[in-house]
Parts: sequence; structure tokens; C-alpha cells
Amino acid sequence: MNDIDPICDILERITTLYRNEVRLVGVEHGLHPVHLEVIYYLSRCNKYSDTPAAVTEFLGITKGTTSQSISLLEAKGYLTKEKDPNDRRVSHLVLTPQGEAVARKAIPPVSLKHGLEKLGCGSAALKVQLEALLRDIQRSTQSASFGLCKTCQFHSPMSDGHFYCELTKETLIADYGTLICREHTYIQKNE
Ligand code: SF4
Repeated sequence: MNDIDPICDILERITTLYRNEVRLVGVEHGLHPVHLEVIYYLSRCNKYSDTPAAVTEFLGITKGTTSQSISLLEAKGYLTKEKDPNDRRVSHLVLTPQGEAVARKAIPPVSLKHGLEKLGCGSAALKVQLEALLRDIQRSTQSASFGLCKTCQFHSPMSDGHFYCELTKETLIADYGTLICREHTYIQKNE
């Protein structure tokens, strides 16, 4: 066994327990894990990223699975579809209060939240290392970053609780900076 195997084993066990806990919350609501993942993604993404195509890309699932999941979640009252005012071909998926409540309850699992809270300041160092690991995996699998808006190279802070997105040329409220974006691009660093 090399130095990497024990870490891989730990990550495997954490992800398995994570999925099991999410699955149990889904059972309470008659939802499969993928339905909860769609709900959680929609609770975390911005207005450029709440389309069926973005859901498909983020979760790495087929268009058919996305379509079936959205239909079921709409029928159960967890989300609604709203036409884009500037492009009627595009639909935005908007969580209902019921959908928001399930997102808060299901993901992240309670045991993970408690475990990270117990780590206290140690979780800051863990975050840095996990971010580096994630970024490396995204690079080697050529996956989109779907990062937080405030870490994007197009995020240009303004002084009045707003920032300017240099990609979409829109002024957005500061709270948007904490959301996931499909167009996110890491700030280039000279390495
Ligand atoms: S700054 Fe980047 S992450 Fe934020 S909305 Fe613009 S493209 Fe998306």
C-alpha cells in the first residue's frame, strides 16, 4: 500500500456515508438521491446556471435523467419552470419554498456538518487542500469548475454592495458572489 491508498479509502468511505445519509432523507420525501442533488444544486447556483443543460453538466448525468427528474420535481411541487424574459427558448428552474426546505435539510448531511464544525479552525487548512485536489481533478477530467462567483476572474467588486460581471456585462448584488456559476473561470495565477 502506498501513501495515497489510505487517503483514497477515507474519501471513498466519506462519500459512501454521505450518499447513504442523503438517500435516507430522500426516502422520507419519496425522492431518489439524484432528485435531491438537482434540488441542492438549484439552491446554490446563480441565474446563469439554473437551466436543465447546466443541471446536466454539473451532475454529469444524461439529458433524459435530468428531464425526468425535473418533471417529477415539478409535479411534486419542489420547483417551477420560468421562461427567460430575453430568450423564450430558455427555461429557468426555480425552487419553491418546499424545494428550498428540502435542500437545506438533505445536503450537506447533518453528520458531515457536525464533523466539520468539530474540526474548527482545522477545517480552513482542509478546505485549501480539498480545493487544490478538486481543481486538479477538474483539470485532468476537463470538467467545468462550477466555482463560487467571488473566486471568478470576471468578478469585479464595486463599492455599494454590488459587483460587476465582466463576462455577462451585468451589475449584480454582492450576495450573488456566494453562488455557483456555470460560467465560472478561475483567476489565472503565474505559477
Ligand atoms: S463573475 Fe464569473 S462566476 Fe460570477 S456571474 Fe460572472 S461569469 Fe459567473
